[in-house]
Amino acid sequence: MKQIKQSLKNLDLFSLRLRLTIGISTFSALILGSLAVWTSHKMQQILIDSHKHNIQQIVDRLPHDIQLYSEMMQPETGLQKAINNLSNSNTLLFIKNSDNQISIKSPTLSLLSDSTVNKLMSITQMSIKPQIYHVNQSYFVLSGGSLQVQGKFLGKLFVVRDISREQMMFMAMIRSLSIASILAIILITLVIAFYIQYSLQPLCQLSQMTAVISLEDLGQAQLYLDNAPSEVKELAQTLTMLLSRLSQSWEKERQFVSNVSHELRTPLTIVHGYLQSVLRRQSNLTEIQIEALETAASEADHTIRLLQDLLDIARADSGYLRFQMKSYILNDLVEEVVMMAKKYSDRTITIESSIYPIELKTDYSRLKQVLLNLIDNAVKYSPSNTPITLKLNRFHHQAIIEVCDHGYGIPLQQQERIFERFYRVDESRSHTTGGSGLGLSIVKTFVEGMGGNVSVKSKLEEGSVFTISLPIIS
Ligand code: ADP
Repeated sequence: MKQIKQSLKNLDLFSLRLRLTIGISTFSALILGSLAVWTSHKMQQILIDSHKHNIQQIVDRLPHDIQLYSEMMQPETGLQKAINNLSNSNTLLFIKNSDNQISIKSPTLSLLSDSTVNKLMSITQMSIKPQIYHVNQSYFVLSGGSLQVQGKFLGKLFVVRDISREQMMFMAMIRSLSIASILAIILITLVIAFYIQYSLQPLCQLSQMTAVISLEDLGQAQLYLDNAPSEVKELAQTLTMLLSRLSQSWEKERQFVSNVSHELRTPLTIVHGYLQSVLRRQSNLTEIQIEALETAASEADHTIRLLQDLLDIARADSGYLRFQMKSYILNDLVEEVVMMAKKYSDRTITIESSIYPIELKTDYSRLKQVLLNLIDNAVKYSPSNTPITLKLNRFHHQAIIEVCDHGYGIPLQQQERIFERFYRVDESRSHTTGGSGLGLSIVKTFVEGMGGNVSVKSKLEEGSVFTISLPIIS
């Protein structure tokens, strides 16, 4: 029961499998249903025709019998004799005179109940055509017409045939046919559903194989399916070629970013150096010139940092990002970073740590860059009168660093995305801070490259906590 509930929950209403199953099953059900209806209609028709034929035989024979008996006895007696002769328990005959009264009838008519006879009589009032009438749980075929012997009108002849037994048998057969049709439709639907699932299996395999291909494996990806139909094999081949083309273009783009960043960084660093040295010897510069040079130096510095970020990302993508892992005491390293951060900002930055020493193996300069990026963000995205706290801890085999601020916070639905490249929460808000949207993606790349993890918890207008966990030396 649980399994059925689960599979109903997993049912994809727009899946090709469901659509094909419903489509083909409905089509088969329509064909099978129409066939069953047509067969039963045809059989009913044959049954009626055979009764009509029997009745017609009686109607044809009666005048001849009446004439024969009338030659041997009184006409009235002859008529009765002829009627008796053609009647039996299932076939009843009666003749109505011009006053619509029964003048002669089969003796077996009295075997029927009064209400049945009354109903049969009321049917004979109307113009009747040979068909099946349902009267009090019984079925009759009724036919009527005028009776003439040697041109003399003797009355209206009615022939009633009790076909209850045949009709019951026929209805039982129709019931069996309906049940058989329904069972056949269910069976066909199940077979079709399984067959479609089996046929679509290679497509699902292909999708699963494609889903696990990472950016690094694009070039080596080989989608091959052993027993798949040729159409799916062709699709797999096309997809493999597409992945290979994607990998080439991705590689070219990576190379391009790396080359451009590298080529621009060197001259810009020189420009920045010159600007700094001119500013240092500023004795004969006017105030406006100093301001212009300071703006140029700050913009050059910002662009150099952006280019360095781009270079790091391009290196990480091509797998050339190397980490020089050495043993450090985290508490000392963080203190150093905080001192450095305080030089660039007049914010209150405190460290909270109850454990000393927390030893870990890390790449000193990369971890420094990670922490500076997070502190820089905390400064940028919180009011200037609020403090920033770095909390150090140890949990199982992990060193935990939390960078906490009391800033604007990040909306819940965007917390996953802020680690993506060039993703910025609120462009208008971020614009004034002059970021590029690369800082957190660098943080994630570096931390994961050192075997750690980074996550964020944030509440709007309350602040954010960025947590880094790194493996410690146990
Ligand atoms: P940016 O250069 O824009 O700072 P990041 O990758 O460092 O790029 O950050 C991405 C976005 O995440 C930022 O634009 C900002 O909107 C949001 N963000 C990052 N850190 C914080 C924080 N401490 N508080 C609030 N928002 C933050």
